[in-house]
Amino acid sequence: MSYSDDNFAKELILDHYQDPRGKGIPKEGYETVTLKNVSCGDIISVGAKKDNEIIEDIRHEGTGCSICCASASMMCELLKGKSTTEALKSAHEFSKMMTRQKFDPEILGDAYALEGINKLLPRIKCATLAWNAAKQLLGEQGDQCDE
Ligand code: ZN
Repeated sequence: MSYSDDNFAKELILDHYQDPRGKGIPKEGYETVTLKNVSCGDIISVGAKKDNEIIEDIRHEGTGCSICCASASMMCELLKGKSTTEALKSAHEFSKMMTRQKFDPEILGDAYALEGINKLLPRIKCATLAWNAAKQLLGEQGDQCDE
């Protein structure tokens, strides 16, 4: 089984949707960015707790479709413990995957399971929402989002 296997990818997305990693943001000590994807109705907040350049913790909350929630869970799992530089690199690889450019699957962990979404135009925004919020938390403007 591999990430490029359709069923494996679907199961992994379902697993992150049903058992989200890093769900719930504590009120204290977290910097938060909230983004909306109007076309689908997704609203996701991402909260990060940074110690110097290290992401000590990164969490999410909100409501969204399965793709949006699974992607947020995968993102939190992947970026936790990384330096902001490493985390931004991961976020850039994810953007490349979603825009069908050459990317490195090794960097993306479970998020590689979302590759197939890049062919489903209306769902791309669902998949990238949490990553855009993370990019903003890391000091970078996310991709254009309909607000
Ligand atoms: Zn959605």
